[in-house]
Formats: sequence, structure tokens, C-alpha cells
Amino acid sequence: MLAEKGKAKVAIEIQWSNQSDEETLRRQNRYAEAGVRGLWLLRRRRFPIIRDLPTPRLDGNMRDGFDVELDTITSKQRLPVTDFLVAAFARRLYFGIPYGIDARVSIHAGTMECWRDRYREKTRVVTRINADFGANSCRFLLSDLDDFPGITKAVLTHMPQGIGIGTIRPRHSRTQQRTYLSNGCRACGALLGAFHLHEALHDEKMIAAFPQRLTGLWHEAVTVRFTLEGAPMAWGVYDG
Ligand SMILES: [Zn+2]
Repeated sequence: MLAEKGKAKVAIEIQWSNQSDEETLRRQNRYAEAGVRGLWLLRRRRFPIIRDLPTPRLDGNMRDGFDVELDTITSKQRLPVTDFLVAAFARRLYFGIPYGIDARVSIHAGTMECWRDRYREKTRVVTRINADFGANSCRFLLSDLDDFPGITKAVLTHMPQGIGIGTIRPRHSRTQQRTYLSNGCRACGALLGAFHLHEALHDEKMIAAFPQRLTGLWHEAVTVRFTLEGAPMAWGVYDG
């Protein structure tokens, strides 16, 4: 199927049989030489995810209709074939981390006891900060924000007051022999280290959320985070 919109030519190939990866790539290159973008819908389950070739899986049957399934960076996306094609033609199908996309940042916290206080003061600590966009979720610990002061500022601006969170600031850890952005006891200010955050997971909940466009430092931070985690870049459908 060959579709044209303005100067853009897109070939949509629905591949029912098990075409070899080499053959698919060879045909994709031939399209590229002819100035055509190839979009493959593959019945088979696996294909290496690469920038040159969007290859969502096709799932379904004639009676129930067909869905498209994509492995995104951190999750999966499933949508009807028509919605997928509309998104592709509206340039809402992206590879990697789309620059300028709308994300939702959420702050999560739980409670833990201070190791230093005789009375085991309970403090609420930030367990993670999530930047969600499309079907992807990028997770930061406070210490991951050290290299991004602009982001730290945005997060601290949205931190709710009066719910028992200790002062968040850089503290030195003797066990880790480094200084990092950390939670602290609200009574004595002692470092409540990243290593013990699991103690706060039992009552973890979201305490704040705000919209954030992935530009500049935010885009860079998400890129760095995914790179350090070894998260594979992938195709995804996004709003707007
Ligand atoms: Zn304390």
C-alpha cells in the first residue's frame, strides 16, 4: 500500500509471512533510495528495534479486527491499526525520546524512621520522582538529580509543605564517600540515605504531580537516566 501526503511518500507493508530480517532491511533500503518511508506491520513477534525501521507487531483476526503492538522504551503500547496509521501520518510516531513532548512529573514519598534518634522519629522521604511520557516512565532518585540543578529546583518548588518531609539538600555520606542530594530526618537533619529507601516503600504514595515539557535539561536528564539504565531506545506513539 503506497500513501502520499504532500511530498511525503509512505509505503505500508503488511507482512504476514516470516520474512527474514535481512530481506526486510533490504527492501527498506530500496524504499529509502526511492524517497519513500517504509512502515512495516509484522505478524511475527520479533524484530530488532532500530531507528531506520518502525516495525510494530500486528495482532488480531478478521472477526475482531487488528491491533498494533509496540515495545516502547519502558513498556508496551497497543492500539487499533487505524489509530496507529493516523498517528504515523500525523507525525506522532517517534523513535527515542521526543524533544518537546508533554510529560507528567510525579513525586512519590513514604515514611521511615531516623536511625539516629532515640525516639526513632518518623520522617516522610522522597522515594522517587517519575517523568512519564507516552507509554514510558523514567525514574529518578533524589541523588540522580545532582547533575541537574534546574530540575532539582522544579521538583523542590512542587514539594508539598506541612506533610512531614525533612529538608532535602546535599549531605555527605561516609559509607558512600560522596555528597549527594538526599532526604534528611525532620527532627535532627541526619542523612536518610538512598541505600535505605526501601524501608519507606511500605506506605509509598504520590504526593505531587505537575506537567512538564521535555525540553532542555529535562530532555537531557531523561536521556542520561535511560542511558545509564541501559534502556533500549524504541518507537512509540505520542499525543500532540
Ligand atoms: Zn533524626
